[in-house]
Amino acid sequence: MPDLIVVGGGIGGAAAALRAGQYHLPTVWVLGDRETHRASRAAYVRNIDNMLGVHPGIVQEKIGTVLREAHGAAAEAVAAAHLHISTADLVANARARIAADFVEHVRFVEERAAEAVSAGDGFRVRLGSGALFEAPFLILATGVMDRQPVVHRSKGGRDLSGIHWVYPYANQETFLYCIRCEGHLTAGRRVAVLGAGDGAAEVALMLRERYGSEVQLLTAGDPARWSAERARLLDLEGVKVLEGRLVDIHGERQGTALHGFTLEGGARVEVDLAFVAMGLFRVYNDLARALGAALEESEGPPERRHVLVDRRGETSVANLFAVGDMARRRDEGIMKQVYTAQEYAVRAVDAIDARRRKDRRAALLSGT
Ligand SMILES: Cc1cc2nc3c(=O)[nH]c(=O)nc-3n(C[C@H](O)[C@H](O)[C@H](O)COP(=O)(O)OP(=O)(O)OC[C@H]3O[C@@H](n4cnc5c(N)ncnc54)[C@H](O)[C@@H]3O)c2cc1C
Repeated sequence: MPDLIVVGGGIGGAAAALRAGQYHLPTVWVLGDRETHRASRAAYVRNIDNMLGVHPGIVQEKIGTVLREAHGAAAEAVAAAHLHISTADLVANARARIAADFVEHVRFVEERAAEAVSAGDGFRVRLGSGALFEAPFLILATGVMDRQPVVHRSKGGRDLSGIHWVYPYANQETFLYCIRCEGHLTAGRRVAVLGAGDGAAEVALMLRERYGSEVQLLTAGDPARWSAERARLLDLEGVKVLEGRLVDIHGERQGTALHGFTLEGGARVEVDLAFVAMGLFRVYNDLARALGAALEESEGPPERRHVLVDRRGETSVANLFAVGDMARRRDEGIMKQVYTAQEYAVRAVDAIDARRRKDRRAALLSGT
């Protein structure tokens, strides 16, 4: 029987599983299946841009030094290459490290966790295949999904509307999602911020204030809902607001470059980047809710609320932890980055390890 079950094959899950392996904590890591992967943020971060250490420049420099001493032409090729590091690369590397050094402590399971219940002093997790695992500690790292804009497109009388038109761009850094991670990419460029709420207005203002980017706000068919003060600031910052539905996206094949949008009625918006700020489509909190974990207070439906945790990542249910994008600490705002997912995960495993060792000491001292 494992001591720990980790659910989620993204950054939070990978960081938790690697740390558990390094602590020799018997662990089952449930990574999810193709469907959960496709619906996760882990799948579409192509280039991590805001973390010390996770940067191609380090590798490029080291390889370049070796090659410069050996083969001049190869050194130039390395210097010119784009060596983007994605979230998928980080997870794959964590898996390889666990497989190489800690495989006797961490078991990989490539399935989705379908159900979780409290059982005795711990938790029982049922997988999609029906397999069951039980452990005294459970870490959930199942992430969130952003709400995407619908493109109301039709061809030959057929309705082809959907969010799928966005996918190629989302994987190419032409559609952006994370102001802290990707906002700087908008400097000196024309950006369409997509969204109708206060969050979208705030993103538009921040891009103006920080980078002086040329911003237009497209509500994509929704009525604008931002506050009067933000409306005034948008006006003063020269941010144009357009409320029509999107009927087309223009860009290069496979999303490598964006040229703009056509709105209902035919208006054309010429931009280089889009920033999606439409809020969350989903917090994958089903397992946490089934186990009775408290959610953040908010007006949204339960499936859009983050799971409340303390500074160790523990939920309101003892020994149940939630880390990464799905979690919200009681003492700070929502943090949704690679490094925060890692930090939450490492703190959770530290707490679990400390409890395990405390029990062992108590048993030793009492002679049981
Ligand atoms: C376009 C974009 C760019 C970004 N760029 C950056 C950046 O440059 N720097 C940065 O710090 N952050 C960036 N972020 C944020 C970063 O991607 C997230 O903070 C990070 O991926 C969160 O990790 P997580 O483990 O919480 O969730 P995710 O990485 O989304 O992983 C969730 C995992 O849970 C699995 N899962 C879901 N349900 C189940 C289930 N029932 N059973 C089993 N598994 C399940 C999924 O398959 C997936 O593997 C970016 C985000 C986006 C969208």
